[in-house]
Amino acid sequence: MKRTIRDLLGRRSFFRTAAGAGAAAFWADETIEAYQGTVNTNSKPSELKITDLRVAVVAGAPMTCPLLRIDTNQGIYGLGEVRDGASETYALMLKSRILGENPCNVDKIFRKIKQFGHHARQAGGVCGIEMALWDLAGKVYNVPAYQLLGGKFRDQVRLYCDTDMSPDPRIYAERMKGRLDQGFTYMKMDLGIGLIAKEPNALTRPLGITPRDVFQTQHMFTGIEITPKGIKMMADYVGQIRDVVGMEVPLAADHFGHIGVNSCIKLGRALEPYNMAWLEDMIPWQYPDLWKQITDAIDVPTLTGEDIYLKEPFIELCRKNAVDIIHPDLASSGGLLETKKIGDAAQEHGVAMAMHFAGSPVSCMANVHCAAATENFLALEFHSVDVPWWDSLVEGVEKPIVNRGFIKVPQGPGLGITLVDDAVKQHLHPKKPGYFEPTDQWNDIRSNDRLWS
Ligand SMILES: [Mg+2]
Repeated sequence: MKRTIRDLLGRRSFFRTAAGAGAAAFWADETIEAYQGTVNTNSKPSELKITDLRVAVVAGAPMTCPLLRIDTNQGIYGLGEVRDGASETYALMLKSRILGENPCNVDKIFRKIKQFGHHARQAGGVCGIEMALWDLAGKVYNVPAYQLLGGKFRDQVRLYCDTDMSPDPRIYAERMKGRLDQGFTYMKMDLGIGLIAKEPNALTRPLGITPRDVFQTQHMFTGIEITPKGIKMMADYVGQIRDVVGMEVPLAADHFGHIGVNSCIKLGRALEPYNMAWLEDMIPWQYPDLWKQITDAIDVPTLTGEDIYLKEPFIELCRKNAVDIIHPDLASSGGLLETKKIGDAAQEHGVAMAMHFAGSPVSCMANVHCAAATENFLALEFHSVDVPWWDSLVEGVEKPIVNRGFIKVPQGPGLGITLVDDAVKQHLHPKKPGYFEPTDQWNDIRSNDRLWS
């Protein structure tokens, strides 16, 4: 049964309210939908239904980025993105579970599909769909996504600029100086044991261990420890970067290699003079007690979290103050609302939130809305400085999207962007299906999804 304005306000106050300008419009159709003047007039939110989910996979952004589009029965669509480097299959397998749902019920749909996500890339489908639902809900009600999350704490979002390693510290420092000249205000460098692997007596390691063995083995189980000589070399490397970029800009470090906890602590202490912004993922996030040992032993902030799915593991890290900063990737952590919940929970324990990100402008804008709406946010990663066409994939936002190290929070409905079809088509992955082609083969895949009996 449709409720009317009269039902809501009561007959008397209805007449008082309706006596003003615009009253005539109410008489034509006095339903709630008509009263909500900001609602997209192309849409009737209560009757909106998901009718399709399609994908288009972009390559070289610099990562592989599966974009997804959720279509509805009212011509309005939502854009999302599966996490960089993940298969689009993670989203497609959820299509049959969301067809027919009203996309405005974001949390209801999220709870229905979240059982199909897991840590790291395996969360990509759930999170990509959640992004697209916020885009849809925002378009339907004609408000930006950050508004639906509770409003914003800031008008622009600070980026931290990632720079992949150059072995020669002089070249690396100059590249980073170039980023500073572009206006970036927060930097991250790679600092791995690969730098010293060929140097005699810099690493202690089991004889014959191959890089492939190391890659497949968690840090504490490789038996690799850095010698005092190796520690000094790595610290000196950072010193040469600091000599060029100065001590004032926050400078984080990542990709240390798979070394034991004691080496993490020795290296952390050696880096104290360089006032690093944080040391990232020195060991896997699954070991909060080991993280706490490292964090307690060094006077440098520690950080982890880019592969964690859902808020509970973050809350455990924060409750123990096992790291100083958490680092969700919104395309793994559960999407916009879950990531805001993660930030809010961390804030209660005095823990700040930086955000990991390495995708296209679609996922980027989902991050920007979430970062704007989360108070303890520090900085959002940006990985695409050297991809000249990155901006061209979307329109609807101010260009350049990244301006002097910040992104303006978009004011358009939903995520605030539309795709530039030709630009996306130019950068499609050559081995993936084309541009939002039909996906009917995913319409009917069902199983008994209930998690209890
Ligand atoms: Mg990282």
